[in-house]
Amino acid sequence: MSLIVQKFGGSSVSDAEGIKRVARRIIDTKAAGNDVVVVVSAMGDTTDDLLDLAAQLTTNAPAREMDMLLSAGERISMALLAMAIDELGEQAASFTGSQAGLITDASHGMARIMEVSPQRVHRAIERGYIAIVAGFQGMSKETKNITTMGRGGSDTTAVALAAALDADVCEIYTDVDGIYTADPRVVSSAQKIEKISSEEMLEMAASGSKILHLRCVEYARRFGVPLHVRSSFSTHEGTWVIPDPDDKITIQEGEPMEQPIISGVAHDHSEAKVTVIGVPDIPGKAAQIFGVIAAAQANIDMIVQNISTQGSGKTDISFTLPMTEGKRVLDALNTAKGEIGFEELEYNEEVGKLSLVGAGMRSNPGVSFTFFEALHQAGINVDMISTSEIRISVVTDADKLNDAVRAIHTAFNLDAEVEATVYGGTGR
Ligand code: ASP
Ligand code: MG
Repeated sequence: MSLIVQKFGGSSVSDAEGIKRVARRIIDTKAAGNDVVVVVSAMGDTTDDLLDLAAQLTTNAPAREMDMLLSAGERISMALLAMAIDELGEQAASFTGSQAGLITDASHGMARIMEVSPQRVHRAIERGYIAIVAGFQGMSKETKNITTMGRGGSDTTAVALAAALDADVCEIYTDVDGIYTADPRVVSSAQKIEKISSEEMLEMAASGSKILHLRCVEYARRFGVPLHVRSSFSTHEGTWVIPDPDDKITIQEGEPMEQPIISGVAHDHSEAKVTVIGVPDIPGKAAQIFGVIAAAQANIDMIVQNISTQGSGKTDISFTLPMTEGKRVLDALNTAKGEIGFEELEYNEEVGKLSLVGAGMRSNPGVSFTFFEALHQAGINVDMISTSEIRISVVTDADKLNDAVRAIHTAFNLDAEVEATVYGGTGR
């Protein structure tokens, strides 16, 4: 008998039909002889709708109340799902994050999990119930307030429960058949990946692949939880994210021993670029700039410093950051303008980031050449570059990004013969 944690995203439970389909799926898993714990997200675009509603009332919502509001989305879907299962003749009990023992720190909107004590979930499955847990939320031990864990946080709830319950697998159900070599909404010839190491998946998630929450992949890697990403609209085998490539990937007969060089292309439209123009080219200025940014609690991604124009003694420093943090950082830098001594700031939201990820890059020369040659052939100008051992990322104009993704996908022979299926959802 296995214990399976199944997580269903908002697009899988967007209406009553979806909830019924998911309920049947859960019952089938139970009928096959498994214990099942379910984590569910808010229905469809509920979380966005709640955010929109709050925005009509205030631009400065108290963080505690915002979490009270947003956590309601998952409470709706968990209760409806429990009813649908009950209607089909199985026993189910729903639990909020705090009832399920998800204890977090006290920070609202981006709470971190401190402890998971799922005794009530345990007892429910022992009594033969299907346990349904509201994703994305917990309770602070310190303040006893309800917290949420950041957008897309239900994936992390699922993995945290799977780790605490020592589940055999954590299945993440979504609206595509698995993880693809590129977003199938952009590249229709994208291929489903059968297995990917969590190291590669981390780079993909950090590079804008929206299919799994970054923290969920980190958590699964740290606790050795195997993830199976699959569609709730089909019964196809999905993509396995394997925590430790050294001892967990078992190679079947006839399978190549080596990993493919490239696992996929991720893209990201959510970043903006800031250029600090005319920075005095003397030691300590970069530290000052990034000190101001750190104090504003912003997350910087790529950084480039240009060579200073001869004799001017000045240089430009550019960096990218999430668009949502742009205003905060510009304000902070402007406040420190006199002290740092730069000339002006330039801000551009019309940029996009493309990342090529693959563990095989480490040992295969020529990847960068193929990459930049493909961009050149497609007439795409590169604005910034950054790399890790297993990733190359570039920033381009926003309106060129999709073309760039397709060009790179083709250049690395990732195109499939058949079109990828997208079952639903907006990808939002
Ligand atoms: N409902 C939350 C969101 O939309 C959490 C999640 O879906 O995982 O971000
Ligand atoms: Mg989600």
